[in-house]
Amino acid sequence: MLNQKVPIEVFHPDFLESINISVDVLRLDLLHPVISGNKWYKLKHNLLEAKSRDIKTILSFGGAWSNHIHALAAAGKHFDFKTIGVIRGEKPKKPSATLQDVESWGMELVYVSRSDYRRRYEPEYHQILLDQLSLQPNDVWVVPEGGSGELGVKGCEEILASGEIDPIEYDQIWLAAGTGATAAGVIRSVAGQCHVKVVSVLKGAAFMEADIKQYLDDSLSDCSLNDWSLKLDNHCGGYGKTTPELMQFIVDMESQCGLSLDQVYTGKVFLAFKKEIEAGSVTDGSRVLLIHTGGLQGRRGIAS
Ligand SMILES: *Cc1c(COP(=O)(O)O)cnc(C)c1O
Repeated sequence: MLNQKVPIEVFHPDFLESINISVDVLRLDLLHPVISGNKWYKLKHNLLEAKSRDIKTILSFGGAWSNHIHALAAAGKHFDFKTIGVIRGEKPKKPSATLQDVESWGMELVYVSRSDYRRRYEPEYHQILLDQLSLQPNDVWVVPEGGSGELGVKGCEEILASGEIDPIEYDQIWLAAGTGATAAGVIRSVAGQCHVKVVSVLKGAAFMEADIKQYLDDSLSDCSLNDWSLKLDNHCGGYGKTTPELMQFIVDMESQCGLSLDQVYTGKVFLAFKKEIEAGSVTDGSRVLLIHTGGLQGRRGIAS
């Protein structure tokens, strides 16, 4: 498995100039050249579980630019699993760069209609897919879309440890949420030692509070307490949507700090942080950790 130490870097863009707040970035994007970011942590225990059951095929779900499908295909090649990606929507004339990568790594792709894709959490639908593929249930390990689920959360509890981070050294830890599974794992590992700020990249994601809570025990489950909070207004229009401000911010961070951010997740978190700094809502003297969850391969989807 991948066990190297993840680097931490000081973050000092212009908007932190002459402000007494120290900010570090945990660079999960540097974990591995292709098995990038938080998606590795969500896959790790799924792969271990499949291996312990002697299952050699992993099936999961995603869209044409999915970071999860990309990481799964790369991990499958690296660790010798056959992988199957169930992709939302008709087969495109020209596959996305993401899908070209995963096919080159040996992933089998199955395109399904959007209405079928909505059934991705139903065991009955999994059975239909397996029948189509002439596979037996015991031969395939099914990973939920995005790698969420308890095994995914369990892996995300290891994120801070992989940077040898002691949460007590920070006042705030910020990260992006799509399903909230990564956030749940980080909140569990922090265990109230500092405040975790979870930035939703989805619009209207009030449901995410309950989605995160289901993985937390009672001592951490109330997001109105000091342990964690959910920011719902920094989605820039919704999942996969961008604004000129966001795109300019990504360009600025690249030129000021040499730090690459993606437009779906990390750009939105870092921009949300900048806005809180500008609003004066981060206490003077605070120590902040921003988690770079990876996802840079998805930048290739910007032009499409
Ligand atoms: C998938 C993803 C997330 C969101 O993770 P969840 O566990 O679904 O909340 C955040 N950042 C990047 C780069 C991702 O690819």
